[in-house]
Amino acid sequence: MWFRRDLRLSDHAALSAAAETGLEILPFFIQHDDDLEDWHTGAASKWWLHASLESLQRDLGKQDLRLILRHGRASSVIASLVKETGASMVVWNRCYDPSTLDRDATIKNSLRQSGCKAESFQGSVLFEPWEVRTGTDSPYRVFTPFWRACRQRTVAPALEQPRQFRSFSGEWPQSDDLDSWKLQPSKPDWATGLRETWEVGENCAHERLGQFLDTAAASYKQDRDLPGLDGTSMLSPHLHFGEISPRQIWHAVDAREPNEGSETFLKEVGWREFCHQLLFHNPALPDKNLRAEFDAMPWRDDPESLALWQTGQTGYPLIDAGMRQLWQTGWMHNRVRMVVASFLSKHLLIDWLHGERWFWDTLVDADLANNSAGWQWVAGCGADAAPFFRIFNPMTQSRKFDAKGTYIRTWVPELAALSDRDVHEPWSASPAELLAAGIKLGETYPEPCVDHGAARQRALDAYKAHVSTSNNGSKD
Ligand SMILES: Cc1cc2nc3c(=O)[nH]c(=O)nc-3n(C[C@H](O)[C@H](O)[C@H](O)COP(=O)(O)OP(=O)(O)OC[C@H]3O[C@@H](n4cnc5c(N)ncnc54)[C@H](O)[C@@H]3O)c2cc1C
Repeated sequence: MWFRRDLRLSDHAALSAAAETGLEILPFFIQHDDDLEDWHTGAASKWWLHASLESLQRDLGKQDLRLILRHGRASSVIASLVKETGASMVVWNRCYDPSTLDRDATIKNSLRQSGCKAESFQGSVLFEPWEVRTGTDSPYRVFTPFWRACRQRTVAPALEQPRQFRSFSGEWPQSDDLDSWKLQPSKPDWATGLRETWEVGENCAHERLGQFLDTAAASYKQDRDLPGLDGTSMLSPHLHFGEISPRQIWHAVDAREPNEGSETFLKEVGWREFCHQLLFHNPALPDKNLRAEFDAMPWRDDPESLALWQTGQTGYPLIDAGMRQLWQTGWMHNRVRMVVASFLSKHLLIDWLHGERWFWDTLVDADLANNSAGWQWVAGCGADAAPFFRIFNPMTQSRKFDAKGTYIRTWVPELAALSDRDVHEPWSASPAELLAAGIKLGETYPEPCVDHGAARQRALDAYKAHVSTSNNGSKD
């Protein structure tokens, strides 16, 4: 049983199938060496992976099973394990990243050719990404009709954890020591904030879901946009690593009284499905503009501004709050993800690919489908994207969604003493107000790294000149 991004024992089609065969089971996990993959696991994701594998090891241990850890090229590792153990069958749940699908197909073929059975099963999605199609039998590129079509389908029940496993009775093959993979940072250890924020593993994922459904779910529709509240589920890393499946979420929601909040929540889980099918049908999504006319965009090469953005030193409080939340916790609120992504690709006119890479390395929920679709959506070059001229105004967003500055004060504490009015825009505060709040602009907190109006105009001009001759900039 090859564990991948499905680090759980319940609603696990491959594991259930393996248990049903009555064959002895030997679970294993392969860490691909970084140089074997372009989008190899980012630093924050590695931290999560370590904790999640520990949790899976514990859960398997309770079933008398051990998780064999190996690193290297999946095809060679599997061939070697089959040889060492005499396995007659290898099973796994599908992942839908384009390179994984190709690799898995090759592995399946070569296993079968060598006389070993190989079966893959539906992975951590509600529907296979090729299943939901338009009336003209093409993949959806727009979310709303996609979701309408999903809502008309039946979601298969979630599978219970198998009651019994037959554990491998031979000599267990050698396993790497998890620590030897060095997934966790040591010098420096930057993971304190991650440890303080997250509890990792299948049980914790279900606890988090239960807690969310008991508390925030009912008001999710109104609160999900307010970054200063715990208004969303924070299930994204659990979902990414497959500690919980979307089917389990779906049925847990379904089992409760329906309300507007939980319907909106399911719709967000639907966005995840949408992104997965988008990546499946557009394998270049992580690396190329879906709308090719954006290839002409004159992105600026500006490493200094990129570094200010990455480190939360742009001088725009909402942007800096978001980027610091990301750095410290490995997660950022969705509303703020949209605003910081817009700031990078529009105010700074830096190619969204740089932002995507930074998110990839720093998010614990870094997910090829959701991340690339999210960036393309905000940058305006993706399917069903917000138009490029929809440039988020960081101050307006801040006043609207963080009116009292709760979020900003948490992540940019040097601005905490400013009034609710000025905290969104410290450069507008009077010298006396700045003095009273203990702020020296340019010293204790940066001056804005670009002028909002000028940056906005620069982005619109670049867009008009290089991408569109038909769209006019609107005052969004
Ligand atoms: C630029 C950008 C980059 C992003 N990168 C990622 C990423 O790497 N990984 C990731 O999981 N999400 C990403 N998102 C989507 C979204 O921001 C996160 O899924 C969400 O903030 C996670 O918090 P939550 O679990 O509390 O979400 P909730 O609001 O509780 O939603 C429940 C689940 O629905 C899914 N979901 C919610 N919103 C979206 C969305 N817009 N697109 C796709 N799925 C969604 C997630 O799996 C989430 O866990 C990105 C969004 C943007 C704008």
